[in-house]
Amino acid sequence: MKRKVSIIVLCCLTVLAVALYGCGKKTRNGSQNASAENSMDETTQISTEKESEEKSESEELTTEEETEDTETVEDDEDNQTEEVVEVAADNNSDEQTEAEAVNTEQSTQPENVGPEPVVICIDPGHGGDNEGTKETYDGTLIMEKYLNYRIAQSLKSYLEQYDNVKVVMTRDSDVNPSFSQRVNSAISSDARYIISVHVNSRSSEEVDSHGCMVLMSCSRYQPSNSRVSSLYDAEYALAKSVLSKLNAMGIPIANDWNTEYTEGILQRTTTSGETYPDGSHADYYSLLYNGTRAGIPTIIIEHAFLSNENDYRNFLSTDAKLDALAKADAEGIMESIR
Ligand SMILES: [Zn+2]
Repeated sequence: MKRKVSIIVLCCLTVLAVALYGCGKKTRNGSQNASAENSMDETTQISTEKESEEKSESEELTTEEETEDTETVEDDEDNQTEEVVEVAADNNSDEQTEAEAVNTEQSTQPENVGPEPVVICIDPGHGGDNEGTKETYDGTLIMEKYLNYRIAQSLKSYLEQYDNVKVVMTRDSDVNPSFSQRVNSAISSDARYIISVHVNSRSSEEVDSHGCMVLMSCSRYQPSNSRVSSLYDAEYALAKSVLSKLNAMGIPIANDWNTEYTEGILQRTTTSGETYPDGSHADYYSLLYNGTRAGIPTIIIEHAFLSNENDYRNFLSTDAKLDALAKADAEGIMESIR
């Protein structure tokens, strides 16, 4: 019995020991498993981090590349958009301009139903320190530049009384523009004609000249930018018409430079040998030369001789007489160009 009890006790102890051992082993395995899981977790985590970093970096690269691509595309789109906006703006601008033009036409139409105004450029000869010819009468020094300016101002007033005539001046004060500057004023104002206003002079020891003459180009050169079909014909018609009006108020054709044989028209070629592009002789007078090159009919009216006392007293000695010269000029010009 004792032995049986001992066997039972031994068995129980054995079972207990086995049970205890098994629990211990399981616990250690559990710990190991936990460690393995932990280490695996760490590895996984590192891997994941590495992958994550790599992925992130590659994603970043990809993202950057994509972003750059996107930005480029967006830039392109922006550019395109801007171009479109610009085009749209241009279109709007054009439309506005057209609309404004239509409005302007509508608003100005009732007042301006005639054709485009003819612009006439009047050139008061000399000015500033270039006084022109001078004479003393009745104790007073008379300078050509002042006579020219008075006639020119009056001529402007007379011409502006005609419909559709616009007048510009090469000088509005006592200054002396160069010949090219004078012609440039006509060019920039789109003038159709240049009328230069002068009075004449001749030393009485040479010839006692008197009367009127008109200077025009000696050449038939016709530049491509001409504002009339024939500069020569336009100048000739202007000269003849103005001379006839001056004659009509009692001023004879000048007896100088053989103008008594040319019906008062003086044409002089330069003595320098210079020519126009067509090979014809250039004009002696710079204003005529520059006017011809600009394609604008240009004449110089020499109304009377300041050096001749009769001319002075009959035609130049008062404002009323100078105004009468301007009136004759205006009538002659308008009859010629209309
Ligand atoms: Zn002069």
